Amino acid sequence: MLHPPHQSVQVAAVPSQRAPARDQAGPWHTEAVCRRDEAGLFFAPSKEPTAARLAREEAAKRVCARCPVMVECREHALLQPEPYGVWGGLTAAERRVVLARRRRREMELGQAAQAGRIAAAG
Ligand code: SF4
Repeated sequence: MLHPPHQSVQVAAVPSQRAPARDQAGPWHTEAVCRRDEAGLFFAPSKEPTAARLAREEAAKRVCARCPVMVECREHALLQPEPYGVWGGLTAAERRVVLARRRRREMELGQAAQAGRIAAAG
């Protein structure tokens, strides 16, 4: 994970401590709006109550909404995939939904292509 912007309160989620992945994802993170975030908006502290989590995630999403690298960040988080935190305006649960939709779509496209080959072969 390369996301140095986030100032996480969870050690496991501190992006800058996962340096090996940094070179793989490119320099987009240098423009991240959340680089200087010190409010711990992007990762959950342990035992965070639901209402607090929802409020924190919405605040993080507002930061993401004005970030010039939101698309790159989101794709990075989907491709890794990043299991925790808000990335590119999506929570971990929302990213799982996006990934499931992508997988389903790819499967449907594969099936359609196969059906087309069978029909063409006659
Ligand atoms: S989109 Fe959000 S999480 Fe990603 S770099 Fe920008 S502010 Fe940070």
